[in-house]
Order: sequence, then C-alpha cells, then structure tokens
Amino acid sequence: MQTSGFPAVAIDGVTLNYFTPERETLALSNVSLHVAKGEFVAIVGSSGCGKSTLLTLVSGLLAPSSGSIKVDGLAVTAPSPRVGYMFQKDTLLEWRSIIDNVLIGAEFLGLDKRRARKRAEGLLTRYGLAEFMQSLPSQLSGGMRQRAALARTLCCEPDLLLLDEPFSALDYQTRLALSDEIAAILAAENKTVVLVTHDIGEAISMADRVIVMSRRPGRIKSKHRIAFPSFGDKRPSPFEARKCAEFPEYFQTIWDELDLHDVH
Ligand code: ADP
Ligand code: MG
Repeated sequence: MQTSGFPAVAIDGVTLNYFTPERETLALSNVSLHVAKGEFVAIVGSSGCGKSTLLTLVSGLLAPSSGSIKVDGLAVTAPSPRVGYMFQKDTLLEWRSIIDNVLIGAEFLGLDKRRARKRAEGLLTRYGLAEFMQSLPSQLSGGMRQRAALARTLCCEPDLLLLDEPFSALDYQTRLALSDEIAAILAAENKTVVLVTHDIGEAISMADRVIVMSRRPGRIKSKHRIAFPSFGDKRPSPFEARKCAEFPEYFQTIWDELDLHDVH
C-alpha cells in the first residue's frame, strides 16, 4: 500500500547518454514527469525517441547521467519488488511451466511459497489460464502468453507497473481484447501504471494522461489529460473510449504533434 503524500513517480531533469566504443548517444534530454498514485500515464513517441530508456531508468536497471528519479519519494538506486516491469516480448522461460514462470519473481525474492502459489493460481484463473498452469509457454497463443506475463508481473504485488509496448507483438484483435482486460484488471487493483507505446489509440483509450515525446534526443513535448465527460468520473473501457466523440479529436491533436514525417 502506498500511503505517503509523494507522487508515485517523480522524474526531474533527467538526461541519459549511452556510451559505446563507436559513439555517444544522447537518448533523453531534460525530461521531467510526475505520476500520481493510481494514475495511468501513457507515453507515446516515434521509434528510438527514448521511451524504453525512460522506463528502464524508472525501473532502476539504469542510472540517469543527470537529474533525479524517485519512486514513492525515494531515490531509485536499484530494481525494487514494488515495481513490476513488463516488456514487449513476454520473456517467459520456455522450459518452465506457466505456473512456475509466474512464480519466478516470488522465488527470487524468497517470498512465502504457499502464499505465492495461491496468488499465482488465483491470477491465472482470473485471466482464463486455469487449464494451462502446467503447460509450457510454447503451448499458448500470443495473447495467453502476455496474460501469463502479466500474472507473473502482478504476482509480487507491485504498486507501480511499467509496461513497455506489452501488446505490440500481438495481432490487432487480440491487442484490443487484451487491452480491455488489462485495463479492467489494473483499475480493479488501483495500480499506478506507466505504459509506453507507439500506438496513439492504445494510449488515449487506456490512460488518464498521454505524454508525447519528441524525437531523439527524447524530450517531453506535451502532456494531455484525457477525459470522456459522458462517463463522468468513471474511466470507460478502452473499447468504449474508442467510440467516444472525443477520441478522434485527441487522436488528431496527438498525431499532429508526433514527428512522423520522416519515419525511419
Ligand atoms: P524507444 O523505446 O523509444 O524506441 P529507446 O529508448 O530504445 O527508444 O532508444 C533511444 C535511443 O537510444 C535510440 O537511438 C537507441 O539506438 C539508443 N539506445 C538504446 N539502448 C542503447 C544501448 N544499450 N546502448 C546504446 N544506445 C542505445
Ligand atoms: Mg522501445
């Protein structure tokens, strides 16, 4: 439970340089962004603009060249079990059963085995994977694998979820269905979410706020609060959001801000 008055994530004046023997790449320049607890923020930007780099910094796997990153008021110095990180590729281990994949984090953290197993079984049942607990990842479809990966991420009960293009390897229909399911799960658990995507529709339909990044070096270009007044305080499901009158207006505004003119 997050009870303090700090923002869930505070990114302030962050710059990141990658150094390789051949070159130095300025991936992020002076990025600042605060995410409130329970908020769902989506970050959009063209390929190579530094979206994954930003999430990696928040996860603690990488340190900024300058600036500060705090999660729940504490400077990030290393990966924390309170932060769940889900990638584009599901990174399930092919030789372990689905249930054993979901239990990896708990095993790694040395959490109580029986409690973790109960939670893992509960999550897999809720995500329609009860019959596949003993299956190997190769026996599952792409959408099922991503649901298993989500169960693995949520099994350690993180407060903050970092999602890096989690749907982009899936076909369009699966992506729409899964984004609806995941939005419902995350809203029910009141998680703070930072979703990175190049899909504007996905961002608008799922998030409370959409952050637009400029091309490399990545900077924050604009921030949009997304509201669908006909739903009042409630957030529509992504599927419902796509049918709202405001949806195409947000889409057009954000589309115009993305530098897609010379896509490489
Ligand atoms: P995005 O996720 O928006 O596509 P990335 O954060 O992956 O962008 O990359 C931003 C820039 O940093 C790109 O130019 C990429 O080539 C470079 N980059 C990413 N990771 C590394 C790395 N480990 N070493 C060197 N350069 C990198
Ligand atoms: Mg990326």
